[in-house]
Amino acid sequence: MNKILSIFDRYPDLVIGFSTKSDGNMRLKPSDSIKIDIQAKKNRRIFLDSLGINEKSVVDPILEHGTNILIVNDIDGGKTFKNVDALITARPGIFLNLTVADCLSIFLYDHDKKVIALVHAGWRGLQDKIIENVLAKLKEFYNSDPSSIIVGIGPHIGGCHYEIQDDVSEKFREYPGAFINKEGHKFFDIGIVAETQLTNLGFRSENIEVNSECTFELTDKYFSFRRDKPRIIETMLAVFGMK
Ligand SMILES: [Zn+2]
Repeated sequence: MNKILSIFDRYPDLVIGFSTKSDGNMRLKPSDSIKIDIQAKKNRRIFLDSLGINEKSVVDPILEHGTNILIVNDIDGGKTFKNVDALITARPGIFLNLTVADCLSIFLYDHDKKVIALVHAGWRGLQDKIIENVLAKLKEFYNSDPSSIIVGIGPHIGGCHYEIQDDVSEKFREYPGAFINKEGHKFFDIGIVAETQLTNLGFRSENIEVNSECTFELTDKYFSFRRDKPRIIETMLAVFGMK
């Protein structure tokens, strides 16, 4: 069991999962290879089993680095949805999935309204305000207040290894604390950007936990797209649900 966040410990009804490299690739249809897809499905089944989750109760988005948000219900269990980067549910027994291999997985739990969200964000999603959009949906449909929402961010590429060029840094000028300059190279901390956006939106800093593990650095533990530059992308699986 790979425990990534302790901020949700006081809520025993939550189920949080984050696979490691040893659980195998979790990305479905990574190529035209049926063999790889069958293996990924098998890896998922074993991992979900270990969390006590039936695969007919999970919802899978096909990520696009966009800002589309889907509210899922009981009837959506076992389904896959195209062009979605954030999932919301108020249904216990429905488990939200997403795959990551450097990007942020953001887990949100409104303990007052009993609603959860799972969000995928790289720099594009952060730039396009996916967190703000998710909060707007939570407010609109559940009357959520950010001060009642607990947020955890899963393992991702850290500011220690995420080298960027000026095209990206120029888009994040209002986050000077997210950049580290080392020997003429510029590194970027997307976790700091997410945390800054969250606090600016009214989330309480004591309700936010950012896992500090760097996917690029932990070669044996995590897949990293930027480190491995694989022809066929391999990913971890993030899972979030209420029992
Ligand atoms: Zn690192």
